[in-house]
Amino acid sequence: MANRDDFTDKTKRVLAERAGQQCSNPNCGHSTAGPSDADSKKSTLLGKAAHITAAAEGGPRYDAKLTSEERKSPENGIWLCAECADRVDKKENEHQFPVELLKHWKQFNESVTGTDYASLQDRAHYPVRKLRIVDFGGVIGDITINFGALTLFYGTSKLNQSVCDLLRTFSEREKFEQTRQPRSGVRSWNYGIIPIVEKISLGVTVLTSEPRYFAEAGKLHITLSDAKDFVVRTTTDDVAIFVGDAPLPVFSPVLNIVTIRKNFESVVFSGDSEEEFDDIRGLSTFFGVSVKEIRDCIQGVASDISLFNYNYKLENESNLLIKLSHNRDFLPIRVLSSGELKRFILDMAIRVATYSSRVRPTVMTINQSYISSLDARGWADFLEWVEKSRPPFQVVADCCYRPSEGDLSRALCYDAVGTDMAVTSFGLRTWAEFQKAESEGAKGVI
Ligand SMILES: [Zn+2]
Repeated sequence: MANRDDFTDKTKRVLAERAGQQCSNPNCGHSTAGPSDADSKKSTLLGKAAHITAAAEGGPRYDAKLTSEERKSPENGIWLCAECADRVDKKENEHQFPVELLKHWKQFNESVTGTDYASLQDRAHYPVRKLRIVDFGGVIGDITINFGALTLFYGTSKLNQSVCDLLRTFSEREKFEQTRQPRSGVRSWNYGIIPIVEKISLGVTVLTSEPRYFAEAGKLHITLSDAKDFVVRTTTDDVAIFVGDAPLPVFSPVLNIVTIRKNFESVVFSGDSEEEFDDIRGLSTFFGVSVKEIRDCIQGVASDISLFNYNYKLENESNLLIKLSHNRDFLPIRVLSSGELKRFILDMAIRVATYSSRVRPTVMTINQSYISSLDARGWADFLEWVEKSRPPFQVVADCCYRPSEGDLSRALCYDAVGTDMAVTSFGLRTWAEFQKAESEGAKGVI
């Protein structure tokens, strides 16, 4: 038998701890440590450190180019439950578990378990760890979603509020106060008689083939990275916020959300005259921050950050000028094309979120449908930038299209699973699975 480059006990422990004692296969995720059944003084370990490329010649994915040191390094290992490890370690299953997939699983799991940014400071950069939705917002039953530094959703049109909207419930008083449990059992809407011309009138009744039923009461739990747990409880006519089980007398925001909303063009450029069109007061209204803060975002602390290499300057303290990467001159915002405008808003949102994160943990939420004219490459540039540059804020996106471009390895991607009328689970997908249509098999690998 050839020499085997087995992991040391220390390496196994490092792998187990990096994985948060959880199987790294995203379609499994079983805990790998627990109580012993036989002895209340003992624990049981059910995990195994598997080799990404085999420990010995002839083993699965063996890479002759690696040195013995590299082969037994934690970088060549992945923590799995015993069952998944046995599958991955079988030579005949090699084609099913290529090196890239296992590396992806490993990074992905470190992102899910929050062990990739282990320091307290880094954890503060992404405040939302978990959202539990119980009979609320179009979810039937009890669903928990884990969040990483970058979390993407697809299919949330099945919900009556996007995941970004659900998070805003914890951030904005107005959103919180408007939150109610939707009423159930609506089967039809009668739009009555609409007169078309004097002698003809039209009656319109819309029937829903499958009525959406809502529970009488719902709950939305959020767990933040500092382990604080907030709960919003709703009925059809009331909403209340709790910390754990204790009711809070008043609502105050538990996290900061910077968001891109609907119709931003009309909000940002609300002015009638051309001067008003370029005035930063529109941006201030749009992002819900003061004019001074917008000014600071443009001139001050965050001025070195630009996703698309844009440069900005202010004229007369409040008129914004932009220099696109391929242009030599600064231009007024009003001359931008629709696509450039989307990039500009995204760029500005990054600045505002960076600025905001200096004061309070911040989440940037984006509903892709609001920037749908941003091209696939622009969207991919944004997501890749978030993953690689690790900005000081968390990003959550509701995607209206499956991404066709981009290369991510740590993003947590979820497909909302259910009927058009109810979401019953959120399936965690790898990036490659997330990009494919469901019919092509966004199913589990195992
Ligand atoms: Zn497993």
